[in-house]
Amino acid sequence: MPDFFASDALLPTGWARDVRFAVDARGDLVSVAAGATADGAERLAGPVLPGLADLHSHAFQRAMAGLGERAGPQGDNFWSWRDIMYRFIRRLAPRDVEAVATQLYVELVRHGFTSVCEFHYVHNDPDGERYDVPTELSDRIVAASAASGIGLTLLPVLYQASGFGGTAPNDGQKRFVLDDDSYADLVERLVRRHRGDPQVCVGIAPHSLRAVTPPALKAALAMLDRLDADAPVHIHIAEQPKEVADCKVWSGTTPVDWLLANAPVDRRWCLVHATHVTPAEVDAMAKRHAVVGICPATEANLGDGLFPFGDFLKAGGVFGVGTDSNVSTSPVEELRWLDYGQRLVHLGRNVTHRPEGASTGAFLFERARAGGAQAAGRRTGALTPGYRADFVVLDDGHPALVGRAPETLVDAWLYCGNANPVRDVVVGGQWVVREGHHRHGEQAAADFAKTARKLLA
Ligand SMILES: [Zn+2]
Repeated sequence: MPDFFASDALLPTGWARDVRFAVDARGDLVSVAAGATADGAERLAGPVLPGLADLHSHAFQRAMAGLGERAGPQGDNFWSWRDIMYRFIRRLAPRDVEAVATQLYVELVRHGFTSVCEFHYVHNDPDGERYDVPTELSDRIVAASAASGIGLTLLPVLYQASGFGGTAPNDGQKRFVLDDDSYADLVERLVRRHRGDPQVCVGIAPHSLRAVTPPALKAALAMLDRLDADAPVHIHIAEQPKEVADCKVWSGTTPVDWLLANAPVDRRWCLVHATHVTPAEVDAMAKRHAVVGICPATEANLGDGLFPFGDFLKAGGVFGVGTDSNVSTSPVEELRWLDYGQRLVHLGRNVTHRPEGASTGAFLFERARAGGAQAAGRRTGALTPGYRADFVVLDDGHPALVGRAPETLVDAWLYCGNANPVRDVVVGGQWVVREGHHRHGEQAAADFAKTARKLLA
């Protein structure tokens, strides 16, 4: 594979000039040298950033974005939205899952996400029966990631109950439910198939403490440890006040407190939507070095609430951002709203990172980059040897960025306008987006249009 060359690149040590990247046949960086020459290398035609990981996605929900925005008979909230989602899901065929996921992943890559963590919970057919090929729908997600070029952390979801303490699942949940053995079989097939694949990592996602009983959680963790003791574990944890209240009735304590006391939560874990937490829980999550997964656009759309982000940063917590329901597909919107939520609550500007002169955008990008990569469980998100050659090339002639020094580019990218100034994207050393055009973009859009018309008819 030829080397790549960038006039400006954001390395772990900061912005560097005249950087040459050597990439091996697997798509990993083998050397990164600043102050180098461009002879014979492929030129990256703008400032280069490492790609971000989207740490939380439910791909199929991309096709229902905007469908839940009409007022219902009573107050609308997360739970009424979920009823719409359950009705929508009944129509999804395997090819629909693939078409929607492919379109979504193309959009994510075009906006600068080079990895995605797919919290994948539709496993069964519309009648709740398993497909003849047990990995049918997981395979569709893998196919979508391959077509789009995005790096994938596939997180098959364990979902067995409709409420705390193992309440029987309801009819809307039958496409999600697998017993312990079927779930172990699914995960094992996927782990074995993708072992050593630099573009696909397989972990697990116990859906939530609402949907998984303590014995099932324990069994799933033990099963994963036998297959891959480093694989990531993601869970929805405290998205809704009702969820916290129900957990207290069931266990006498809150979901985060229960989980930290009863599971080996550490840096391989990602706690998604740790929205409703106490100050003690904020400190405890930070001490465990688990990633907190924040999905600002979706959490706003669903009326979930605001995570106490400032307190978590003060405690030294690790975070990343996710697009979750995929009402937005851009890291700009997620990071911008993560910060704007804090500005609105604290009635001030640049409140998330206070040292005088420090860049808020660069700080948010750097932390989300590191936390996202940790949650993905893949060697990505850093332009350094041994990591994936995932480059996001900005268009420095774009009106949002023109004339900016490299050190101010991320602020301009995150806080200026709505147009997308991502010019090129290389994932694992392969060109995926060139001059704004995704290599599979037209086909993905055509397939998605067919599926969307069918689903929405
Ligand atoms: Zn979610």
